[in-house]
Amino acid sequence: DPSNAPLTIIGTGMAGVGLARAVRRRDGERPITLISADSGDEYTKPLLSSAFAKRQTPQSLAMHDAVGLAATLKARVRTRMPVDAIDPVGHRLVIGAETLPYGQLVLATGAAPRQPFEVASSLRDRVFQINDLDDYRRLRGVLDRHPGQQARIAIIGAGLVGCEFANDLHAGGHRIALVAPEPTPLPRLLPPPLGRALGEAFAEAGISGYFERQVTALHDDGDGVTLALDDGEVLAADLVLVATGLRPRTGLAEAAGLAVSPAGILTDRRLATSAPDIFALGDVACVDGLGAPTGGVSAMYVQPLQAAVKALAATLTGAPTEASYGAWPVVVKTPLLPVVALPPREPPHHWRIEGEASDFSALAEDQTGRLLGFALTGRCVRRKVELARAAPPLLG
Ligand code: FAD
Repeated sequence: DPSNAPLTIIGTGMAGVGLARAVRRRDGERPITLISADSGDEYTKPLLSSAFAKRQTPQSLAMHDAVGLAATLKARVRTRMPVDAIDPVGHRLVIGAETLPYGQLVLATGAAPRQPFEVASSLRDRVFQINDLDDYRRLRGVLDRHPGQQARIAIIGAGLVGCEFANDLHAGGHRIALVAPEPTPLPRLLPPPLGRALGEAFAEAGISGYFERQVTALHDDGDGVTLALDDGEVLAADLVLVATGLRPRTGLAEAAGLAVSPAGILTDRRLATSAPDIFALGDVACVDGLGAPTGGVSAMYVQPLQAAVKALAATLTGAPTEASYGAWPVVVKTPLLPVVALPPREPPHHWRIEGEASDFSALAEDQTGRLLGFALTGRCVRRKVELARAAPPLLG
């Protein structure tokens, strides 16, 4: 009976831990093993980019350490233990010299930041990518070494992560430069007039924007970093944050012969991969065509992840269930100008944009005026619920 076999979950992010918790609620006995490449501390990733505004420290962000997690889940939690390979035929994992049998396997390995250029080893303490609590601890370690001192921080990339950290590190008292190749911030979420409004709100607060500019190289200048831009301009910074997007960690699955794409490990709506007894969810998964944005919309958010957790926990405990995603807008944590967006799955026939100053509603519509998605800024974010009700579900 597969529901009595040991369940092994790779990854202790919100997907892996959420699934373990949901399975445990439905089955108090089943052996569960969680394996993680990181510390195994449980934390809520979206809080990393609002920690200054919410006065949180890395210590206060960790809800449980791995020992506490194992106790609350009645599970084995193995940390700092990157899985090297999966043997789908033998139902085994390879971790260093060890092999570990599994009954059912769940891949919840998340996504890794893209690194667009070489970073000299001498710059390791100055150039950061923040994608987990361990990364954030390192950044805060450097910033908190000189309390009260303003650091010059250059952020490369103006997507959700870049913009949220720009706002939050600014709230933490630092001087921010935001560099991106696109003409306006949040290009995947906001049509240009709304992106411009966010750029203006940032500029008014003192965040300098360097849009339509690429960073070509980072140089160690002894005391800091200089960023060479493609138009010849040179920026000086104490620290650099690289936020140029995330790529699903599909390597393990691909090497084991599972079907993958740049959008993630391919699964059906039951989160089943192409291999028997192996499932995937969270940022690493592409569920029925929805995963990392490869031209289209992204499903790398908490709500789709939670819907997948719920469906897979039911499936793994004997009630096969398909995941469905609602019309869930993304709430961007930029208090300098509130932003909410539900990008349309397909490019719309037109955007209907209304508003003034920094308060805009933009409705993505088809030829017949049917609502496909929307973007809201400033005071207009209060239309979120009303519009989400009228918009089509992400995965109906
Ligand atoms: P991760 O949290 O990346 O977990 C992956 C796990 O896999 C880790 O434990 C890692 O150690 C482990 N792992 C990887 N490879 C191996 C291996 N070979 N062996 C063993 N273990 C391995 N979403 C929202 O909806 N709203 C927000 O406001 C929001 N804000 C965000 C802010 C930031 C700064 C970031 C970075 C993301 C934000 N997101 C937000 C996205 C959301 O946080 C993610 O979608 C979600 O946390 C992904 O969780 P995950 O468990 O799939 O992946």
